[in-house]
Amino acid sequence: MPICDLHSHSLASDGTLTPRELVARAAAAGVQVLALTDHDETAGHAEAELAAAEFGIRFVPGVEISVTWEGITLHVVGLNVDAHPLLEQGLARLRAFRDWRAEEIGRRLAKHGVRDAYAGACALARGRIVSRTHFAQYLASQGFGRDARGVFQHFLRRNKPGHVPGNWAALDEAVGWVRAAGGIAVLAHPARYDLSATKLRRLLAEFMACGGEAMEVVSGSHSREDNEAMAAHARRTGLLASAGSDFHGPENPWVELGRLPELPAGCVPVWESGAWTRKPARDTVADPAPACV
Ligand code: AMP
Ligand code: MN
Ligand code: MN
Ligand code: MN
Repeated sequence: MPICDLHSHSLASDGTLTPRELVARAAAAGVQVLALTDHDETAGHAEAELAAAEFGIRFVPGVEISVTWEGITLHVVGLNVDAHPLLEQGLARLRAFRDWRAEEIGRRLAKHGVRDAYAGACALARGRIVSRTHFAQYLASQGFGRDARGVFQHFLRRNKPGHVPGNWAALDEAVGWVRAAGGIAVLAHPARYDLSATKLRRLLAEFMACGGEAMEVVSGSHSREDNEAMAAHARRTGLLASAGSDFHGPENPWVELGRLPELPAGCVPVWESGAWTRKPARDTVADPAPACV
């Protein structure tokens, strides 16, 4: 079974490595199949695909789409997505909301005595999408919390001064964009949403009704118990099982590329499914196409 890591971030969203650095690190860690799944952004694919050919691993073009469902924010990962206009237009809309939200977060924080947060976050984002991660990093650097996690706790979560409600894609929109792009829609880290068992069942049923095909059973942001609980949902629903570290950078030593436990028994790995092979895999290990001269 190949070593797969199907959820990771680069500088194109809120990760801290370039796509090439990310692929190099994955290869060094023994990962054989890597998906780059930046938040609402696919700008890292071209560089990652070239690097994957260079380092001899297989590259899966992916994305992590922000979704608003029943008032909460969820993430839907798309795997094996092509550059389809529906997906690109949808992501562009979410990035426009992100841009407005970033300014609004800055205004709200300013009212609470945090100056220049918008400029600080934009500087850290270096012109790509602006994420709450960048606000957390900036505020931590200004002494507003011990670390990014502390800043989330006190400033950025719901009911905190810098919180702005999400207005992301609807669940059926996100799944539709992924499918239009020929990809597989995967519900990301489902144990992280703190849903009751009843609500999680409803979410999974709705996700499948929209065309969702897989769920992350093993995630870097799940505990071992979460993985087991999500495996039971995958077996019950028939959703395919995915696995990903959700790696954002080496600063987080507890989430490393490719260091994932095996999928619990009885789950069908998404990378062994018919859905995975319904279009030819991008064999990035093969020689790249000759340059046109
Ligand atoms: P955004 O999509 O801009 O709202 O930012 C969400 C991102 O913030 C997630 O993808 C995580 O990378 C990060 N994040 C969310 N909650 C926390 C937390 N409690 N501590 C640290 N990072 C977090
Ligand atoms: Mn993130
Ligand atoms: Mn996520
Ligand atoms: Mn992620």
